[in-house]
Amino acid sequence: RGRAEHFDAALVPPSADADSVRRQRSIERRLRSTIQEGGLQLHYQPVVDLCSGRVTAVEALARWCDVELGFVAPDQFIALAERTGLILDLGRWVLRTACAEVASWRAVSSSMRISVNVSAVQLADPDFVSDVADVLAGTGLAPERLCLEVTETAAIADLEEATSRLQDLRRLGVRLALDDFGTGHSSLTTLRRLPVHTVKIDRSFVDRVATSPADAVLVRLVIDTAHSLGRRVCAEGVEHAEQAQQLLAMGADLAQGWFFGMPLAPSAELTDVLQRQHPASDALLRRGTGVP
Ligand code: C2E
Ligand code: MG
Ligand code: MG
Ligand code: MG
Repeated sequence: RGRAEHFDAALVPPSADADSVRRQRSIERRLRSTIQEGGLQLHYQPVVDLCSGRVTAVEALARWCDVELGFVAPDQFIALAERTGLILDLGRWVLRTACAEVASWRAVSSSMRISVNVSAVQLADPDFVSDVADVLAGTGLAPERLCLEVTETAAIADLEEATSRLQDLRRLGVRLALDDFGTGHSSLTTLRRLPVHTVKIDRSFVDRVATSPADAVLVRLVIDTAHSLGRRVCAEGVEHAEQAQQLLAMGADLAQGWFFGMPLAPSAELTDVLQRQHPASDALLRRGTGVP
């Protein structure tokens, strides 16, 4: 302040910032080559119809286990991919792979849907709609079997543009879901304006739905509002029977979470989870009233 001094690196404590910048750089380098080499994996988590207990969809979730870095969490590498623009290549790979894999599964119902997460950066890309059309044509997947999940943050950044992009996607015949609803700057106006078929209630509300009356009030409000607007409701992060039972009683249509199944790589175990009859309305409601 008011004077100048020579910079001397020795006076600066080894900064965590420099380390974390270096780490970010090396993660970015590894992610770029992993995407190019097709080295990411997809895990699939069942989405269950609460009334019938049947799996009606799977959500594709990207997984990265790197030879040098080990397992890197999606929240970390997706955010990095968004900051660096790698998300466009990553997102194209996820979309193509998920559609192709699900179209090829012979052991599961031919009406089973596949949900794919779409980042704000992808939604803002003018080529996105034609990319989706190309993938559908290339894999032969019926458009109504694909559901694209966008977050509120993605949509709100430019509500006007997002709405028109979503309308173009709807014209292709794909389904749309609003992901992580309730986090960020949720507003019921966004819910009304965005042309989505389904609203996914964020795990943070579902967590406390069976234990916090205040959270239960909010979840019920979202479910009722979504239904009045003609949207279906999916609850995310259901871990316990009590939550499933409560959500069913409140009118939620779909649910997803460890209670029904973890995200799994394509395997015999995944096929088994997808074909299984999960606890449905009868069993869940009996459990709720304590009647065996
Ligand atoms: P999301 O789309 O909301 O996905 C749900 C997340 O909740 C997943 O985390 C899933 O593993 C986790 N989860 C599911 N059931 C439960 C449960 O019962 N309890 C708990 N505690 N967690 C549960 P994951 O796989 O770590 O992914 C995190 C986020 O990363 C996703 O949130 C999504 O926003 C993003 N993501 C993952 N894959 C992709 C991708 O291919 N593209 C894009 N753009 N984003 C992706
Ligand atoms: Mg999602
Ligand atoms: Mg979510
Ligand atoms: Mg999320």
